[in-house]
Amino acid sequence: MAAQREWYEKDYYKVLGVPDTATAKEITKAYRTLARGSHPDTHPDDPKAEERFKEVSSAYDVLGDDEKRKEYDEVRRLGPVGGFSPGGPNGAGGHSFNVGADGLGDLLGQMFGRGRRGSGASSASGPQRGADVEARLTLDFVDAANGLTTALYLTTDVQCGTCSGSGAKPGTSPKVCSRCGGRGVVDDNQGFFSLSSPCTACGGRGVIVEQSCPTCYGSGVEKKQREVQARIPAGVADGQRIRLKGRGAAGRNGGPPGDLFVECHVTPHELFGRDGDNLTLRVPVTFAEAALGGVIDVPTLDGTTVALRLKPGTQSGSRHRVRGKGIAKPKATGDLIVTVDVQVPTHLNDAQRAAVEAFAAATTSPRERMYASGSTSRTGSGSEA
Ligand SMILES: [Zn+2]
Ligand SMILES: [Zn+2]
Repeated sequence: MAAQREWYEKDYYKVLGVPDTATAKEITKAYRTLARGSHPDTHPDDPKAEERFKEVSSAYDVLGDDEKRKEYDEVRRLGPVGGFSPGGPNGAGGHSFNVGADGLGDLLGQMFGRGRRGSGASSASGPQRGADVEARLTLDFVDAANGLTTALYLTTDVQCGTCSGSGAKPGTSPKVCSRCGGRGVVDDNQGFFSLSSPCTACGGRGVIVEQSCPTCYGSGVEKKQREVQARIPAGVADGQRIRLKGRGAAGRNGGPPGDLFVECHVTPHELFGRDGDNLTLRVPVTFAEAALGGVIDVPTLDGTTVALRLKPGTQSGSRHRVRGKGIAKPKATGDLIVTVDVQVPTHLNDAQRAAVEAFAAATTSPRERMYASGSTSRTGSGSEA
């Protein structure tokens, strides 16, 4: 089943008001509650009810189906916009208290304010943002122009496969921290002010792991080679760094993942060059084509040719714009800039020689007038063409 366009735009989890780590049961429950509250039959006077009902239904259509949900999660993970939602569903559902690394990271993000990079609750046992990862990618000129999705193989911290990132020994679950009640912070009432500080009992995680996972010793991550699908946008330039949010190393103790930076190296093309979003191309033309003008075929990057009209008297080195044949980006497409290169033949056959000699005989030298002005005196001997 193919991903649909609106998957990129709609946050179905948000529509249903569930975290993206929600179990199938939780999703169904949220859907039933919302559907009941917006069913057009029970709200005949509310014109927006039907719209809400539709939205909720299409969200459940995807999230309520294991296969579709998996695909949707993948689409969101690769998507160019929105926050990260790594990890995805753990197929095996079934946990009644599901402490996915992401859900928790998200929760903590809301508590401490977004954008902190491992600061804030940075005690060794607290949630830590995963490391940023650097990768290099060499791209073909055409791939760089068109954009592509490619697999990168990286060895980084990933969510521990034994405990699915919870850090708890399989068969056990992390317990909600009794000091902070799972909030990860404790309120410190000082009369008028109420200050919150990270809970020291659980290190800000909100949960306490009583028996650590034997694979990751409770950190929730392990080092592994993994495949990352990297989407490189159209028009990436040589040396450009692409940031893939949330695709770096997994966070520790429920912290958010780091970012992946891909440094792109673009190999040159035989024919085409780049100038921003414009493609550049030099095309050879004969003296006759330049002098008489006419239509020449010009290759484009997609393999087709376009007709370019040259005026009579086109000069060597002149530039000609073919609109819309440059780098195609979502918002605007560049042009193809053709530079005409008038070629002087190095060898003439008899017919060509005769034609050129006839041309010469009918032509006044362009230097004639220059010399006639007297600024240059003619000395020595020259030879006629
Ligand atoms: Zn583990
Ligand atoms: Zn606590």
